[in-house]
Amino acid sequence: MITLVRMKTAVVIGAGIGGLATAVRLAAKGFRVDVFEKESYPGGKLAELRSDGFRFDLGPSLFTQPERVEELFSLMGENPADHFTYQQLSSVCRYFWPDGTLLDVPSGPNDFAYACRDVFKVDPSPLSGYLTNARDLYNLAAPVFIDQPFPTRKAFLSQGGREIAKNPSILDPFVSLHRRNKRVFKDSRMVQLFDRYATYNGSNPYKAPATLKMIAHLEHNLGAFFPDNGMYSIVREITDLAIRAGVRFHYDSMVQRVNRNIEGNQVLGIRMDGKDYPYDVVVSDLDVNTFYHAGMIDYHPPGFGRGQALSTSAMIFYWGVAGNHDHLDLHNILFAENYEEEFRHLFKLKKMYSDPTVYIYISSKKAPSDALPGHENWFVMVNAPSVTRKDISSEIASAREAILKKIKSMLGVDLASKIVFEHVENPQTIEARTGSWQGALYGNSSNSRISAFSRHPNQRSKIKGLYFTGGSVHPGGGIPLCLASAKIVAELIDQ
Ligand SMILES: Cc1cc2nc3c(=O)[nH]c(=O)nc-3n(C[C@H](O)[C@H](O)[C@H](O)COP(=O)(O)OP(=O)(O)OC[C@H]3O[C@@H](n4cnc5c(N)ncnc54)[C@H](O)[C@@H]3O)c2cc1C
Repeated sequence: MITLVRMKTAVVIGAGIGGLATAVRLAAKGFRVDVFEKESYPGGKLAELRSDGFRFDLGPSLFTQPERVEELFSLMGENPADHFTYQQLSSVCRYFWPDGTLLDVPSGPNDFAYACRDVFKVDPSPLSGYLTNARDLYNLAAPVFIDQPFPTRKAFLSQGGREIAKNPSILDPFVSLHRRNKRVFKDSRMVQLFDRYATYNGSNPYKAPATLKMIAHLEHNLGAFFPDNGMYSIVREITDLAIRAGVRFHYDSMVQRVNRNIEGNQVLGIRMDGKDYPYDVVVSDLDVNTFYHAGMIDYHPPGFGRGQALSTSAMIFYWGVAGNHDHLDLHNILFAENYEEEFRHLFKLKKMYSDPTVYIYISSKKAPSDALPGHENWFVMVNAPSVTRKDISSEIASAREAILKKIKSMLGVDLASKIVFEHVENPQTIEARTGSWQGALYGNSSNSRISAFSRHPNQRSKIKGLYFTGGSVHPGGGIPLCLASAKIVAELIDQ
């Protein structure tokens, strides 16, 4: 006798990196998976722009923990290197300060410590100790806070969970990242450099707990990487992998809402273009604040954690630039003179700061075909408050002017006369294109001690079949954490 077993069905709303990885993982578990994406391309914030002979990564530029991408290929029985290649950066970032200091950060904690010794004339051991501590912290915290659902009984009862419960100060949550850095580093420029790690998830170093120092561990102990074909190749290759695994993609398809049964405790599928589509499982990769605000479900958001500040947004100028600028690297930072004032503007005044820290990413340094011959592709970003005001054109114009002035004074480059192509993104365009609430890049910020405990969970226990992945839910924003959220969701669904 033949028994027919119906394939379980899953729908993923949104083809951001978290949604793509969830789709691959569910296909690997035997689900029939559909991905609905409102735009005409996959990637969400991790997108690219090709125009006038230039290619730009529109969103992420720093790539860490490539093994989290590789795992997806291995899961499908494929050799990752056949599809996705990358290189470790020997030089992680070039930092410039207004007083004329230049620091080239080499790969590896020891070389980094010696580079700081040479430039700042300081003892290298506090930096080595800091990075060792950041590594230990990560190794203790990741199994509890990153690689499983949280907060759960299981997480609290795990070995790491019990260790942390016995001695919470091990996580260094009781002082701000800035205060910790000030206690460790004698030189204010080093304090500023390590404060900047709070911005990797859109937070304020003067408020966020020192626990965030573990972000520095990823970049300096584990390494920073560059995909050979640019950041967007991560999306391209995972999408192709998903297609090979049988996932079906539906672009230009804006999902209107998640359907539930009459009792409200079980999802039934989704509604799109006025039609209902049944699925066993629904995974949302939308920014979770948008999910509730857009009425994707007639159910309240979790109470705990409401009122957390949003992470920062950004203003980004994508400039095709004539000439080669050898004094710049792949990643470059031009620091603000008064960092505290910059964050007061971003989080308290909700305004752009007149002397912002400027980040310049030039992928054509590693991938020359990203720019016309004799040119470079500059991705120039400043942090912006996550707000949606009606008209921000004057703020964009002021930011552009402030950036060009800073580049001229700190790098001696008259960039305005060299720009041959320009595209601009701002909090409003980021919100419109990716659905991120008020343009926040990482959902809620980690500005408070309870942030890790109050991120939206990957599952609502009261609604069976509904799951959440991506940078606005547990464990957090950034490519590695989005990939971690996809893994958690797939395991929860499996259970
Ligand atoms: C400028 C910038 C710089 C960044 N820099 C870095 C970096 O250097 N390193 C790093 O690791 N991370 C960085 N990040 C963060 C990283 O990009 C994000 O954390 C990550 O890409 C978010 O992925 P996600 O899975 O949450 O989905 P998202 O990228 O938020 O995508 C969500 C998708 O859902 C779609 N969608 C929304 N509503 C609907 C609907 N109703 N129906 C169907 N589809 C819908 C959207 O169109 C979008 O494609 C940066 C982000 C930005 C914007």
